[in-house]
Amino acid sequence: MGRIGVGAMAVVGLVAVAAVAVAGVAVGRRVRSGRRWRRVLGVLRELEESYETPVGRLRQVVDAMAVEMHAGLASEGGSKLKMLLTFVDTLPNGDEKGIYYALDLGGTDFRVLQVQLGGRRSSILPHSVEQQSIPQDLMTSTSEDLFDFIATSLKEFVERKENSSGYSPEKRRELGFTVSFPVKQTSVSSGILMRWTRGFAIHDMVGKDIAESLQLALTRNGLNMRVVVLVNDMVGTLALGHYHDPDTVASVVIGTGTNACYVERTDAIIKCQGLVTTSGFMVVNMEWGSFWSSHLPRTSYDIDLDAESPNPNEQGFEKMISGMYLGEIVRRVILRMSQESDIFSAFSSKLSIPFILRTPLMAAMHEDNSPDLREVDEKWRQMLEVPEVPKKVRKLIVKVCDIVTRRAARLAAAGIVGILKKTGRDGGSITGSRSRGDARMRRTVVAIEGSLYTSYTMFREYLHEALREILGEDIAQHLVLEVTEDGSGLGAALLAASHSSTPLPPNTVDSVQMP
Ligand code: ADP
Ligand code: MG
Repeated sequence: MGRIGVGAMAVVGLVAVAAVAVAGVAVGRRVRSGRRWRRVLGVLRELEESYETPVGRLRQVVDAMAVEMHAGLASEGGSKLKMLLTFVDTLPNGDEKGIYYALDLGGTDFRVLQVQLGGRRSSILPHSVEQQSIPQDLMTSTSEDLFDFIATSLKEFVERKENSSGYSPEKRRELGFTVSFPVKQTSVSSGILMRWTRGFAIHDMVGKDIAESLQLALTRNGLNMRVVVLVNDMVGTLALGHYHDPDTVASVVIGTGTNACYVERTDAIIKCQGLVTTSGFMVVNMEWGSFWSSHLPRTSYDIDLDAESPNPNEQGFEKMISGMYLGEIVRRVILRMSQESDIFSAFSSKLSIPFILRTPLMAAMHEDNSPDLREVDEKWRQMLEVPEVPKKVRKLIVKVCDIVTRRAARLAAAGIVGILKKTGRDGGSITGSRSRGDARMRRTVVAIEGSLYTSYTMFREYLHEALREILGEDIAQHLVLEVTEDGSGLGAALLAASHSSTPLPPNTVDSVQMP
């Protein structure tokens, strides 16, 4: 019994010793894990600090944007901002009448549109759209093959649409042509294709007039249609905005990439001496994705992302604000955190895959409103094929998304105010503080498109908040961001109408309104 008792005591003693040892190991592990977690928080703090965009810094970005706009207008290559001339000097104003067509070519699909305009800003723009994909072999064939294919589809579309009203081959039709490849515009209806992107490689087309190639194919295929305007999608967005609201003076897209265009006085376009337009204005395509300034808060994440991108030192602004990159920045931050702590070890291998974290997924996690961040857990597990994510890690992920999106949205807002400043619509910093908020402040509308703005609520809210901070409430209330939809298609058809040879009704005022 005693023995048993002693033995039992010995066992108890051993258990106690073991328990102390285990507890010691556990404490050691906790201490180490606590230390590592603190290092993760250190990375977070560093990120927060380097991503900070207080209003003073945003104002510096605003000024830099306006200065770069000046420089890009002063001389070719004078700035990272290309400030491309579009030769569009008339924007649709709602008086347009008739049937117009558009062709939108920008990727492996192209779209054809027909728009019927009845004047008086025909409220909802009844229109028909058809989309068709371009067969793979035509993307690397000859320009004649490609445009014959497009012209045939367009002709069939026109016949189908006009059948009810009696299709007549003689009738002359007018077309707006939107191209989302780099084009050097030579007139409102002509432009040289600089290079192909997105899988196209039609060598005989590069260095030639893309509108002319289309025009020749339309004629060859017996479609009586004239290419009236050749534009890029930004200009289409501005045109659509202006059609709905004549106070629209700029357009901004924040989607996969980002860009902006605006209405400029021709006498401010110094690099093109002697430029005369009937309106005295011209739409300028800023190509603002390539904007750069030392005032942009650049961090090691931005530098590494840029260095490893296919186009280093290009599109610096775009790499900080557009949908292509935001998720990737978040991935880089979290990868860095995972190197500091084992809380991420289970998923570090997949986390090393560039661009695995897409911006829509980032947005979904960021906007997870459930109390225990279920969505974050689910999305993260699906993406990286890992077990459940601890709650504090979920919170950390949300926080990183928030920091990255907030900076992006605030910088985009500074870009917008840069345009207002350049055009004297920022309510004071140019014209003197006395005009701040006074009655002379004009209403300014910016047409805006792109999923970051339209579908990512937090992005949109941060952008609005920053606009109010930079401009002040009084001035900000005169600024309207108006979402347009399908500027690249509808806008081109509207531009065909406003640049059409059909005489405008009497009493039509010049449709571009500027200071
Ligand atoms: P485009 O490719 O012509 O720019 P969009 O304006 O629709 O088309 O932008 C698409 C981009 O926006 C995607 O590449 C993605 O990064 C981002 N995106 C799409 N949906 C969302 C979303 N719900 N939240 C955040 N970003 C999104
Ligand atoms: Mg788009």
